[in-house]
Amino acid sequence: MAASDLINLSGLLDDAKCFALVRQHRWPEGARCPVCGSGAVIRDGHDDTQPYRQRYRCKACAGRFDDLTGTVLAGHHQPLRAWVLCLYFMGLNLSNRQIALELGLDGSDVQTMTEQLRRGLVAKAPEVELTGEVEIDEVYVVAGHKGQPAAVAKRGGSDAVASWQARRDAARWRRTSHPSSA
Ligand SMILES: [Zn+2]
Repeated sequence: MAASDLINLSGLLDDAKCFALVRQHRWPEGARCPVCGSGAVIRDGHDDTQPYRQRYRCKACAGRFDDLTGTVLAGHHQPLRAWVLCLYFMGLNLSNRQIALELGLDGSDVQTMTEQLRRGLVAKAPEVELTGEVEIDEVYVVAGHKGQPAAVAKRGGSDAVASWQARRDAARWRRTSHPSSA
């Protein structure tokens, strides 16, 4: 009998502490803007569906981000507590298959999670894989205006940004730098 038949470990975890753990690892000296690197950030409420996921606004570039923005933990369907437990099980040297059993997840999902976690709890998502000329152009537009969301909006770059982001969860943090997403 798997342990998960006896105890739902995930249900015992405290969401608030999971997010605090991420913040502590990611910003031991306080939150910093993932777009421009400034430490001049203010708290800006919480995520609509995850009440402990702190949102921030950068005073330097007006970018918006939250605890998970730009990390491997963002843009995934698994709740943060599943990631934290996965990390814990990895520390116990459990196999992907064992972790999948314990978390009640698909084996391939867990494999993806452990691969990403090995790069670091808050490591940036892998670089976007470019597949065509159009996407390269869109990436160029976004990258060229990084930290200047107003300039992007004026030049109509927001559409390119939006369509690009719709396909690219990996670059999810870029959306938060755009003021119209508020
Ligand atoms: Zn900033």
